[in-house]
Amino acid sequence: MSKTNFTSSQIKSDTSRQSAARDINRDFEERATAERAQKMGMSYIDIANININPDDLKVISMVDAHQSLIIPFFKLGKKIRVAIVHPTNPGTQAVIRRLKDEGWSINVNLASESGLRQALSQYKKLSDVHPIQSDNIIDESKIQSYQDEIENLAHLRSKISTVTADEALNFINVAALKTGASDIHYQPEENQVILRFRIDGVLQQVLEIDKNTYNYIGNQLKYKSRMKLNVSTVPQDGRYFFKVNGRKIDVRVSSIPTEYGESFVCRILDSNKKDLAFADLGFEGRNIMILEKTLNMANGMILVTGPTGSGKTTTLYALLNEFNQPENKIITLEDPIEYHLNGITQSQINEKRGYDFASGLRAVLRQDPDIVMIGEIRDQDTANIASQAALTGHIVLSTLHTNSAVETIPRLINLGLKPFMLAPSINIVMAQRLVRRICPYCVQQEALNHGEREALLSAIEKIQEIYPDYNVTLPPSLPHAKGCERCSNTGYLGQISIAEVFENSDELQDLILSGASVSELFRLLRKQGMLTMGEDGVLKILRGFTSLSEVERVTSI
Ligand SMILES: [Zn+2]
Repeated sequence: MSKTNFTSSQIKSDTSRQSAARDINRDFEERATAERAQKMGMSYIDIANININPDDLKVISMVDAHQSLIIPFFKLGKKIRVAIVHPTNPGTQAVIRRLKDEGWSINVNLASESGLRQALSQYKKLSDVHPIQSDNIIDESKIQSYQDEIENLAHLRSKISTVTADEALNFINVAALKTGASDIHYQPEENQVILRFRIDGVLQQVLEIDKNTYNYIGNQLKYKSRMKLNVSTVPQDGRYFFKVNGRKIDVRVSSIPTEYGESFVCRILDSNKKDLAFADLGFEGRNIMILEKTLNMANGMILVTGPTGSGKTTTLYALLNEFNQPENKIITLEDPIEYHLNGITQSQINEKRGYDFASGLRAVLRQDPDIVMIGEIRDQDTANIASQAALTGHIVLSTLHTNSAVETIPRLINLGLKPFMLAPSINIVMAQRLVRRICPYCVQQEALNHGEREALLSAIEKIQEIYPDYNVTLPPSLPHAKGCERCSNTGYLGQISIAEVFENSDELQDLILSGASVSELFRLLRKQGMLTMGEDGVLKILRGFTSLSEVERVTSI
């Protein structure tokens, strides 16, 4: 185990005699310590040459380590290896006793005193890493000041070199969020480190960081994402998160060793964004096509209907999230505000103080928005203003309480909206319900019984008649919900929406203006390819997402 470095100290003597002499003295001391260890029947360790993982160092406090000349240098589970100088030192013995009391199995090694004192300097690694407040929350005033600073990218470079590693990293993260970057790249070069953001799929150089600052940022990144701090020659990966305005932002960090130091890439996972993707919510096929078409429209009402708890607010937020581009001004009127979205002006309705949807909407329209979301249309006033706004170049998103998509039309007319206002102001209307997803951990395939076969076959026939593009067939077996620990024995885990969606058309406007009945309207929408929520539910059953009983629970097939 003993290592001598005569060779290296001889080479060094050419450049620095003093340091060579010190090295030779050290070598004598190490050899003497090794001999002493052998006599005492102990293992010897040249501790000065060990690069200790900071996590292992934490087992003994810096103060204890300095006072009692003991240092932990390798940890595996509850096994710990420590180096000491004097086995009979009462302080050393006390620390070892305490470790045993804490359940550590200890392997004690003898080290030279100067070697151990040199090793103790590694405790500095711990103080070089300043964890952000334990919950990693950046407060809003800080974000504001960061955002103000980041307005001017030219100042970011000098700013970064004057702030602490914590702040530098926060700064960069906030800048990435603000620019909508999906990835942050740190690329070490010979004399500096290039920081680049991937924005809309394209890498863009943001600034150069000096190597000193980068060392701090790199240590901080590794510490936060639980990588090994003392390992820099092999690739590592980890993750951490921080919160901004109640939004949880996940950061996935990966490192690779390069010629000029470790290179990091951080992928930013905005959990809100991900959860709000149409496909993740359960929209598919024709429904998703109509939703995406809507995003390119300049005006019109987007109405989502369903009872409370049918997921309509989440769908509206998913749409808002898609509309949320720098060139769009978005204002919402909500009761209550359920999610916070960056870049959107959200306003809370207060009916007791006369700030209701109708008066709020009038005020909002004076603020020159492109897109307005109104929590709910439930009176004539709101319906009228919403329709006017839609006809004058605004996108208006809102919800209503109706059972089906088509019933939205008579509902708005009953509220007092004139058909000549309603007909041209509609963009799309959708009704939806939530069904539970079958738990993937305990799902079981079962052959179809007679009842299931009959119900599904007739639904499939209807689906193919209405919208032949869906290629659906009846499988011999379907997943059934069973129940396990993961799903609290319900057999289900999570939810998915089933929906019926229609878009405006000339034929539809004609029917509305002629005062057509619900069944006449429905016939037209079917001719245009609209599946009912029940039929959309059957698609989800055939894809194995949910069960027949679950779809029957919330709708009729
Ligand atoms: Zn389960």
